Amino acid sequence: MEKTKTIITGGAGFIGSHLAERLLAAGHDLILVDNFSTGRHSNIEKLVGDRCRVVESTAAEALSDPSLLEGVSRVFHLAAAVGVKLVVDDPAAMIRNNIDETDVVLRAAARAGASVLITSSSEVYGKCPVLPLQEDMELVYGPTTASRWSYGLSKAIDEHLAIDLARRIGLRSVVVRLFNTVGPRQVGRYGMVVPRFVSQAVAGKDLTLYGNGQQTRAFCDVRDVVDALAQLMDLEDAYGRVFNVGSTQQITIEQLADQVIEQVAEAGGPKVDKTYVSYEAVYGEGFEDPPHRLPDMTRLQEAIGFSPKVPLRQTLSELIASEQDRTRLVGQSEEEKG
Ligand code: UDP
Repeated sequence: MEKTKTIITGGAGFIGSHLAERLLAAGHDLILVDNFSTGRHSNIEKLVGDRCRVVESTAAEALSDPSLLEGVSRVFHLAAAVGVKLVVDDPAAMIRNNIDETDVVLRAAARAGASVLITSSSEVYGKCPVLPLQEDMELVYGPTTASRWSYGLSKAIDEHLAIDLARRIGLRSVVVRLFNTVGPRQVGRYGMVVPRFVSQAVAGKDLTLYGNGQQTRAFCDVRDVVDALAQLMDLEDAYGRVFNVGSTQQITIEQLADQVIEQVAEAGGPKVDKTYVSYEAVYGEGFEDPPHRLPDMTRLQEAIGFSPKVPLRQTLSELIASEQDRTRLVGQSEEEKG
């Protein structure tokens, strides 16, 4: 990858901060744009310096200023509303946010002659009954009275915007559909299952499984994910196209819970159990959860030879160790105060 200035919107977020780390190590100069609604200063404090500056703003506001784009050759657009919970709580804000921001970012990149990668989501597949999910397949959504689908639909519009500009004016835009990404710095506050299970188990609480726990997902470590993003951004063949990024190692949520319980006990933590909670109790009436979600990874394998390197067991053990450290520190400071 040629080393020039790169913008990452959502640069202080979970995935954005890992991408920043990866690109800095490869010698890039970075501008991280984040409004810190869900991004955190602590995610990037070690990265910020001469070669990595932070602009505290929404993506649209920051990129509306042409001077920010001077000398910029790549824009990774990761800023977005995060997590099912946030989406269900305020779908209208999420829809406006996702579509308006992406539209401004794409047009700004086009004006500056920069390449742009936008992160879409496996939610775009909605409830496609056919597995594995392949980039060109038909999309299937539930009724508009079920608020969950608004997220996938808004991301699908983002994809249309990116692909349309690639076709019409030759914008070097790549669309990536991220599947369940996990790893250090992800927080459970927005509903993500892995950090929730890890923090519950480390705190000695039973893990809350939604539904019967037989739904499946395939989790991919964030370090594998950002590697793919960095490579796709510079791939001539990728422009105007959509790529799944994820893992093909399927696991039921119940198996995931058992694995977290086992690994926490192995790490000297408490022995906890599982409890089952109905979807209605968590998300209210009309919530639909896709029972299975598995990406077809053929396209990405062919494009960049992608094969995830970090196994789920390793990700979980890192997350458990850092959650144990965090709770120890919190415990210590409470003791000091008390
Ligand atoms: N889930 C769960 N307990 C939790 C959080 C999530 O059982 O505390 C389930 C959720 O219903 C879904 C799966 O775990 O079936 C993955 O959820 P997540 O929100 O992480 O990702 P997504 O739904 O976007 O695949």
